[in-house]
Amino acid sequence: MTALIRYEEPAPHVARIVLARVEKHNSINPQMIFEVNDAFSRALYDDQIKVIILAADGKHFSAGHDIADSVEDYQARVQAEERKVGHWSGFQEPGTHGWYAAEKEAYLETARRWRNISKPTICAVQGKCIAGALIFAWVCDIIIASKEATFSDPVVTFGVSGIEWFGHPWELGARKAKEFLFTSDSWTAEEAWRLGMVNHVVEKDDLADFTLEMAKKIAAKPSFALKLAKEAVNKTLDTQGQANAIDAAFSLHHLCHSQNFRVYGWGMDPTNVPSLANVPKKPG
Ligand code: ZN
Repeated sequence: MTALIRYEEPAPHVARIVLARVEKHNSINPQMIFEVNDAFSRALYDDQIKVIILAADGKHFSAGHDIADSVEDYQARVQAEERKVGHWSGFQEPGTHGWYAAEKEAYLETARRWRNISKPTICAVQGKCIAGALIFAWVCDIIIASKEATFSDPVVTFGVSGIEWFGHPWELGARKAKEFLFTSDSWTAEEAWRLGMVNHVVEKDDLADFTLEMAKKIAAKPSFALKLAKEAVNKTLDTQGQANAIDAAFSLHHLCHSQNFRVYGWGMDPTNVPSLANVPKKPG
């Protein structure tokens, strides 16, 4: 099986995980998720590594979750993975049971693990960062975007309340999060920076170097202090209820999936998804 990512060490104490599925616009399937998870583990347990960059090849960071698979194929792929991280099972159970379990494993609990990796993480985003791709960016500690980068979560258009990792209010503020969701609009890197979601906006040609220079600057600091600084900020968010809020929103996300299954026999409203308009109905 061809790897969908690369693992690099571009400087001392710095690891770089690169999404390398350019022909599919780095769309995210279970294989990529578990390869990224393995790469995070490799960087985490290598005591020489102090900072981890998450980047992507090609014009776009990622088009989001790969919806080419049928729901059944997707659940089977999650079931087949031998490197699961979460505490759920029953990935191939019928109806809501299996899909809830599979998404909880592949989207929610992997994301939570990456968010809590005890080393600073920096995401470098160019081009489009759509829906599920936001999870990859948001779980990182720092986001650097190129000027032409855009961010969107259009899933309300498809009858879903937001992506599985509901970072929106934390990343954008409550009022702008609502606008982001309600309109499905694509927002510029500059707007994301203004709202505090993005740390820096740089020229596209400078993205890799700027990100690496920041990683090197961070890597010069004592690793234990870096870990504890990260933990202190994350615990602040946890104390504010972030983890519970994200769990609650995940349940609502699945209420939407169930509604769409019941009405359309598919995971979303196919009338609003041109590429899925002719997908045959699947048993819910
Ligand atoms: Zn979902």
